[in-house]
Order: sequence, then structure tokens, then C-alpha cells
Amino acid sequence: MKARPVALAFVASATVATAESRGVPDLAQLRSMTARFAPVEITADVSALPHNERQALTRMIEASRILDSLFLRQVWAGNDSLLLRLLEDDSPLGHARLHYFMINKGPWDRLDHDAPFIPGVGPKPAAANFYPAGSTRDEVDAWLRGLPEADRAAATGFFTTIRRAPGGGFAFVPYSLEYQGELQRSADLLREAAGLTKQATLKAFLDERASAFLSNDYYASDVAWMRLDASIEPTIGPYETYEDGWFNYKAAFEAYVAVRDDSETARLARFSSELQGLEDHLPIDPRYRRAKLGGLSPIRVVNVVFSSGDGNRGVQTAAYNLPNDERVVEKTGSKRVMLRNIQEAKFKATLVPIAKVALPPSEQADVSFDAFFTHILMHELTHGLGPQGITVNGRATTVRHELKEANAALEEAKADVTGLWALQQLMDKGVLDKRQERAFYTTFLASAFRTLRFGPSDAHGKGMALQINALLDAGGFKVNPDGTFVVDFAKVKPAVAALAGEILTVQATGDYAKAKEMLATRAVVRPEVQRVFDRLTGVPVDIEPRFSTAEELTAAR
Ligand code: ZN
Repeated sequence: MKARPVALAFVASATVATAESRGVPDLAQLRSMTARFAPVEITADVSALPHNERQALTRMIEASRILDSLFLRQVWAGNDSLLLRLLEDDSPLGHARLHYFMINKGPWDRLDHDAPFIPGVGPKPAAANFYPAGSTRDEVDAWLRGLPEADRAAATGFFTTIRRAPGGGFAFVPYSLEYQGELQRSADLLREAAGLTKQATLKAFLDERASAFLSNDYYASDVAWMRLDASIEPTIGPYETYEDGWFNYKAAFEAYVAVRDDSETARLARFSSELQGLEDHLPIDPRYRRAKLGGLSPIRVVNVVFSSGDGNRGVQTAAYNLPNDERVVEKTGSKRVMLRNIQEAKFKATLVPIAKVALPPSEQADVSFDAFFTHILMHELTHGLGPQGITVNGRATTVRHELKEANAALEEAKADVTGLWALQQLMDKGVLDKRQERAFYTTFLASAFRTLRFGPSDAHGKGMALQINALLDAGGFKVNPDGTFVVDFAKVKPAVAALAGEILTVQATGDYAKAKEMLATRAVVRPEVQRVFDRLTGVPVDIEPRFSTAEELTAAR
């Protein structure tokens, strides 16, 4: 799963007319739609890598490039021929269409409910190109349910397409056959990379993944990916199933080729050693604290050199949690990878301009990427704190089970606000520099508006609406007469602790009614917040990366 909210209700409607009202966009409209993605150069420091590792990295980038065309074909059978047509159109409108096509990896606007932006293109097929053209979901579903168990497992699996069988009916085709040409070329490059690297776990992953591309058995390579411990961190293969709008069965190809961020990794280790101490002081009734925290899923902080396919379309991924294959997760757990330089690019392109609107000039200098990223790290770690397995009326259960559809938003709000509480604890303890205090709270306030822009249907957006309203009600945040927001430093600390305690207690008691009530009354956009949104229309929604380091590496080959 990836952290990339797709529901952007506020922004899409504020900046561009909706699909119904505008028809196919003209040149000016296309340009303003494209401007929602700020062009940025993505660089990563690879100077510490020895020559052979840099060569291996270059092969991985080349292997990943191949997945771009593969993904285009997975999204829609017509993408290849449409792309050729767009490439031949030398008019300004043709260029604008090609540009936006490349951002969206297809002719549908991913920021605007997949509205087509090229004439003659119908609605985005929910089946993508995973199921036979002209078939219906019901037909395929009936066929799937009639299959013997082993066949059904393959046909509903991540790594097969469904096609029409020669004698009528349907058949499943393994990716290794469906995409044979591309996967063979990509596997060759991964093997070359494996031959170049001196890092054992990296070599193991590259070899295993190359084999998987040809055998269609990804299990061993997923396990090898979990064991990766190297200066280069590649994620390359078929992973996420969002593109399969029928069943969410089929995995789309993507790649993130990244290098490990050693100083952030060290900081993460330092925070991790503080977690039990934080749990022991959580602002809840002591009987709800856990005497011994469970093992934490590994977290990696990396800088992206190159991404492709499903990993580079529309809104950029900031972090992901993989693998998705439950068999692997049961055996090895999953790993969270945080893309630091992507987050920094998003911070500069979107959060800094948001702060200029949402905060008065006197506070804007306190907004810093370091504070932003430190809080994100803490947010991730905080997911591992607090109640998880709980007892309700003598019955053993889990928070997730008890809070049902209210759980996701509340859990995100918990990680945010308890993460902020934890940063204060670490400052009080001297683990973090106390001079960062203003930066932490003010950056949190500015980034609240960024998260809220993702809209109330997103768990993060809903959780943030709850927080901003709770902190406004408690006086920790204040609205100036000119509509800007500020932190009240005397009131914000107890307000943060109180909200963290309130959420954690609802979780500890599995109080579904209270959870629903909190979201219904406070996870809403109030007029004072809406007034800020109304002034954010010119601020980009996200970034359009250009991978400069990858270009240099592959040009030098
Ligand atoms: Zn989270």
C-alpha cells in the first residue's frame, strides 16, 4: 500500500472546472490542469557509492524504465497507439496533451475523477487491461467462481491477466507470458546489476526478482526484498492493485530505485529506542499502557533516484508499505519505505506556499522541512504505540475490529497528534533540541492544511480535520482577524496531550459510538478553514518529478 491520497475534492473543484461542465479541455485549460503539478528536479547523492555499485544502480534504472511502457499497457489496451498519435502531433495543443498524458499515464485526469482530457476517448475502463475487452464483470466473476480451487487461486492472483480462450470462454495468462518481451529485457538488466554489486542481500534480491519475472513466482523475491540491507534499495515489480477497478486482484508494475539515507536511518534508530519510554508515559489511564511493545515493522528512509510505472503517475508516492502478498507478510512482516527527497520536493512545492497563505508572515520562517520530516517519522513510529489488542466486556478483540469504518481516520489522527506529543516528550528529555519547539508546532499547523486538501473522504484528511477542530476548540490554535492561523504556545501542549488521550482512550475501550461521534462532529471543514482553502487555488497540488541524477547516470553509461 502506498501513502498517496487520491481524493482531492477541494482542490480539483477549486482550480479547474469539473469534467461535466468543461467538455474536452482546450489548450489554456490543459495548461492550468498541468500547472497543478509543479515541475521539480529529483536528485540523490550517490557520490559515496563505489564505481561498481553505481554501475549496478544504473542497470536497475534501465530495468525500471522498461516498466513504464508495461504499465501504460496495463492501464489501457489503447494507450500504446494513442501515445504514438500524440507523439506525431506537433501543435501546442498536441504537446500539452502529450505532457498531461505522461503525467497521468493515460488520457484520464487522475486528479479529476478520471475525466478524459483527449477527444474520442471514452471513460476509463474499470477493468483496465487485465480482463478481456468486451467482457463484463459479472461474466468474469461467474467464470472465476466456477473454477476448481487451484485454478481459481491463479486466476484471482496478483500476477495473471484474464483473456478469451481460443475455443470460447476465458483463460488466465501468467504475467511472465503476457509481458514476456519486456520482462525478459528487464530481468537481463537486473541480473547484470546483480553481477556488479558486492552487497549480498542486494545481489540476492536482484537475482530472485529477475527469476520471478520469468517464472511468475514472486514469493522468494519478496522474502529477499524484506531482507535487503544495502546502500541501494530497489523496489521493482508488480505490486499495487488499485488499477484493477473490478476486483483489486491484479498487480500493476512499478519501480522505485533509491539509495539509503544513512543519517535519517540513524535518527530512526535513536527514536525507536525511546518508544517503550513513550508508551510508559502515554497520556491515558496507566492500565491501558502496554508493558512491553511488540516488534516493530522495519522502516527504511531512502532518497529516490528513479521511479516508474504505477510508482510515477498522478500524485507522487511519499511512502509505501510492501509487500501486499499476505503469505509473505505472515512469514516476514512488511516493510515501510519513506521517500525523503520526494517528501522534501512536495514540502517546497506545496507546503511552503500553503504556509504563506495560512500563516501570518511572522510565523512563516518557523516552517521547516526538518520539523516536517521528523514529525512524519514520529507519526510512523507512533502507529506502533497505544492500544491494539484490547478487551471489551471480557472479550479479547482489536481496536480495528471494534471501531470498524471509524478506525482508519482515528488511527491516523492518533499517529499525528500522539506523534506531536512524543516530539514534546523527547524535547523535554533532551533527546531532541528544544529550540525546534516553535518549528514543530507551526510546521504541524501548516501541514494540517496540506493534509486537509486531500479531502474528507481520505482517512488522513478526516483525521486531520478532527485534530485542527479539537485544537481550535481548546485554544491551541487561533484564527487571526485576517483569517490566518497561529499556534498559542501556552495552550497547545495541554491541548495536544488531551486530544491524544481522548483518542487513545476511545481505542483502549473500543468505544465505537464515541469514535463515530468524534468524527461526525469534529471531522468536518469549518468556515474558517474553508476560507484558507479558498485562497489556495494557485498552489500546486503535487509535483512532476524530473529524475536528474538518473539521467546523469544513464547518460554516462
Ligand atoms: Zn499513518
